[in-house]
Amino acid sequence: MPSSLKIFLFLFISFHCEAQDTLNQWRIKYYTEKAERYLDREKALGNFYTINKDGIKMFANSTDKAAHKPEFEINWKDIPEFNQLNAYPDDSMFKTYNRGKFTGNKNAAIAPPKHNMNGEKKLSGFKIAIDAGHTAGDAEMGEIEKKNIRFKKDSLIGLSDSISFAEGMLTFATAQLLKKQLEAEGAEVFLTRSFNGATAFGVTFDSWLKTSYKKAVDSLCKEGEITAEKKKWYLSPKCTKRDKFRLIFKDIELQKRGEIINNYHPDLTVIIHYNVDETNLGWSKPSNKNLNMTFAGGAFMAHDLKSNDKRFEFLRLLITDDLEKSFSFSSEVVKSFEKTLTVKTAGINDAKYLRESCIAAPQKGVFCRNLQLTRFVHGTLVYGETLYQDNFAECKALNKETDKTKNERVKQVADAYFHGILNYVQTKENTK
Ligand SMILES: [Zn+2]
Repeated sequence: MPSSLKIFLFLFISFHCEAQDTLNQWRIKYYTEKAERYLDREKALGNFYTINKDGIKMFANSTDKAAHKPEFEINWKDIPEFNQLNAYPDDSMFKTYNRGKFTGNKNAAIAPPKHNMNGEKKLSGFKIAIDAGHTAGDAEMGEIEKKNIRFKKDSLIGLSDSISFAEGMLTFATAQLLKKQLEAEGAEVFLTRSFNGATAFGVTFDSWLKTSYKKAVDSLCKEGEITAEKKKWYLSPKCTKRDKFRLIFKDIELQKRGEIINNYHPDLTVIIHYNVDETNLGWSKPSNKNLNMTFAGGAFMAHDLKSNDKRFEFLRLLITDDLEKSFSFSSEVVKSFEKTLTVKTAGINDAKYLRESCIAAPQKGVFCRNLQLTRFVHGTLVYGETLYQDNFAECKALNKETDKTKNERVKQVADAYFHGILNYVQTKENTK
């Protein structure tokens, strides 16, 4: 080899290595800061991962980390291809995690479903999932869920009528109104609950109790989640309807919501809730407070990475841009809440759960919070908590109309989501 070529190759290789080193240093810094700032709420999860020049490794526990036995490992160069798995409407990313190592995208030959977003309408080609929080279709079920507002008539404090409604009624009506608005702009919309009072299983909670409760208890016992003794209690008359809801149904139904959203593989997911003033304990009379806020994933606590599915979600939030996109989306939605509803946006010190379980995102009114759905729903999402239902003016406004799709305040909330979604989509278009 002529010496000039040797010098050229030497310079080329050194330059390439140096560039690679600089890129890796940037990656180490970016992902370490992201993990520490948005994912590890109590700075207690260092035993579950490493981020260094070799890439990212996840560990099941501290013993495995000390023994250099990762549960999953990925090199820097493979991350873009691994992230492509997020575009498939199945759990191929989680399956790959469980194989321990990423060895290429086996799905690469099958292109992920693409849709044409260049239609005439503003949301042509967009797939949007809407999850209307809770299940109650009436005040009675709201009482079982403990997600209802009930104030006695009290003219002394200015309540000339009694107040009674359930959050699930408001969220479902909002979802229906929002669906219509989004469809009119060309979007394809999927609701996790198909009628007022429906659960994500497609039936009411009462029907689910009749057809599926016993099966659910049996399988929890088989999986070792509950003891045989506990199973007996769950199937005995001592276990109340509220117990069945709270201890068995709630978690598996949230799991179901996440599964059907991920199977639908939406471009955007909107999770709708209405909030209450947490300091208004007993909820026997209205509060003067009123705020809006939104949640995205992250903020895992010290005890939150005990199972491999949760460690997988931690890794997904770390290495994909699901979290960054959810921050931007949530920010547009919460800005729209404030503007449309003339209710202020919460700061981190406005509630105990914000101070103690959340992390403020860079955008105002957006908080990382490790809720079952912010963790398990993949892609870009907003988990909206609009206004306080127990606020004096709000409870009176929300109490109007039996059919909540006719309620003026609920219509405004649907409008606020709609404009937030449009603003996000249009801002994204402008920055392309
Ligand atoms: Zn709620």
